[in-house]
Amino acid sequence: MERAQFLQLLGLSAMGLGMNTLNDIKKISDAFPASEKMPVLFLGHGSPMNGIEENQFTKGFQNISKTLQKPKAIICVSAHWFTRGTKVTAMEMPKTIHDFGGFPQELYEQQYPAKGNPKLAKETKKLLHPALVELDEKWGLDHGAWTVLKHLFPKADIPVIQLSIDYTKDAQYHFELAKQLNSLRDKGVLIIGSGNIIHNLRLVDWPNFNKENHGYDWAIEVRETINNYLIDGNFNPLINYEKQSKAFQLAIPSPDHYLPLIYSLGLKNDKENITLFNDNLMAGSLSMTSLKIS
Ligand code: ZN
Repeated sequence: MERAQFLQLLGLSAMGLGMNTLNDIKKISDAFPASEKMPVLFLGHGSPMNGIEENQFTKGFQNISKTLQKPKAIICVSAHWFTRGTKVTAMEMPKTIHDFGGFPQELYEQQYPAKGNPKLAKETKKLLHPALVELDEKWGLDHGAWTVLKHLFPKADIPVIQLSIDYTKDAQYHFELAKQLNSLRDKGVLIIGSGNIIHNLRLVDWPNFNKENHGYDWAIEVRETINNYLIDGNFNPLINYEKQSKAFQLAIPSPDHYLPLIYSLGLKNDKENITLFNDNLMAGSLSMTSLKIS
């Protein structure tokens, strides 16, 4: 989609972008000097328990972090911040949010004391213009962000902001919106989508929760189909996931954990490749498949 078409989608035209706005964008952009292009990640975060466990998936997160140069800042698009309209966290010190119930006390005691980055929040808002983005002072780091960041960057010494997912919009919109952030990748900003590609909590096979690589037939089928689309760079069926097979409907019964993947894919440039890791099914109806785009 061309930028003009995207503006149309938003009900705006390029004419509506005044020179002052463009100058403002440039001014803020200059505050983040250029650096080597950062990869983009999509992380299957799975159970909140991954925040304190050491297992094959947390090892996968640790291993992938060894392949990254240290980012200057991180933007996380988490499945757990699903809002009307788009928001970006803009506080100096985001709190660690324990947005889950019924887990051991140890998990509630976890803190991920990374700083925020109000300047990056403002730049993100500008780059997403003319989409309306609210600078948020109330959220923080939800478990979609901190349970994985803890393994990637255990020192919590890199500023993190979160970008919410507007639940009133479809996948095509999110795919195009993500593209607007591409220039940040040249400025040391690591953009992470955090969700789960296959995520049907109603059908979780609880008695076999810890059985190795356990997926129902439909989950096995969808994982293979989606992985092929990813490797081939064939994103159209992924954007139009609601129009695919019955198996897709079982695998993606709601958009929250899936749309972070669409953000990551929107940020991929033509010449880049996708590397899969943590590519396992679990509990019948979940996948942990994660990817690095570089
Ligand atoms: Zn989740």
